[in-house]
Amino acid sequence: MSDTINTKQQFITPQVQEDKLELLSKKLLEANEMLKKSETQRSIMLANISHDLRAPITAIRNAVDLIMADSEMPIAELRSTIEIIDRRTRVLEDLIQDMYYLFCVEDKSRTLKKEIVSAVQFLEEFFFDATTNTIYDNHNMQIDVPVDLSVNICIDIPKMIRVLENLFVNAAKYSGDGTDIILRAECSEDKKYLNIYIEDNGIGIPGDAIEHIFDRTYTVSRARTPGKTSGSGLGLAIVSAIIEKHSGTISCHSTLGQGCSFKITLPVL
Ligand code: ADP
Repeated sequence: MSDTINTKQQFITPQVQEDKLELLSKKLLEANEMLKKSETQRSIMLANISHDLRAPITAIRNAVDLIMADSEMPIAELRSTIEIIDRRTRVLEDLIQDMYYLFCVEDKSRTLKKEIVSAVQFLEEFFFDATTNTIYDNHNMQIDVPVDLSVNICIDIPKMIRVLENLFVNAAKYSGDGTDIILRAECSEDKKYLNIYIEDNGIGIPGDAIEHIFDRTYTVSRARTPGKTSGSGLGLAIVSAIIEKHSGTISCHSTLGQGCSFKITLPVL
């Protein structure tokens, strides 16, 4: 047996060996680059998180100091200072909740609780629940899911609801009153995938920002959306992590000033 192996090895020409070594070292270099990239991303994310945590904590600390330093503070001033503490505490709560949620989704040891559902039923139920939420009162909510779209998908329902919620909330947050929010779905031509679209005709995203919006480390400049409540900046990272765990894909097409179309592709059964 070992003779056979030795004989075979003798036939491997030096050129073949060299090619193999070159391929191996190329793969090692690539793996090393990926590791470096993910380490850089992790440290940028940590720096961003520390920064995002520091701002509300500083505001809370200042407000508490103000109250403690003035035992005779008029009631109206006391009330508005406590309101600052309340608002900033909520920002902290949201940020911490989103960070923990993202950590859980990305944790490889946690599996999804998937079940088989009818795509039409799932999307319709989500949509009609969403329309009862007052945050969409000033938008034209539309659904375009063919009733004869008879495909099943295997999903973790609460997580997939979180995906659609994040995209809907963004569609409302980054669009003016009276604009449309549309949920569309269709089967891919080869019938292997379900394509879900969440579309709005709001402010849109600049071309150079689109490739970064799903990063954990990225928030499009807040200066672009004055007066808008900014979130944790992790909403789309959560969306992307959940879709990836469902073996799906997500992409975004946008024209600045004209709106966004987010496309989710999921395998059908
Ligand atoms: P945030 O908490 O900042 O909304 P997200 O991860 O949900 O974080 O979104 C990342 C960025 O992508 C946002 O800061 C926003 O600039 C941009 N964005 C996301 N969805 C939309 C949309 N529908 N229209 C315009 N911009 C959007």
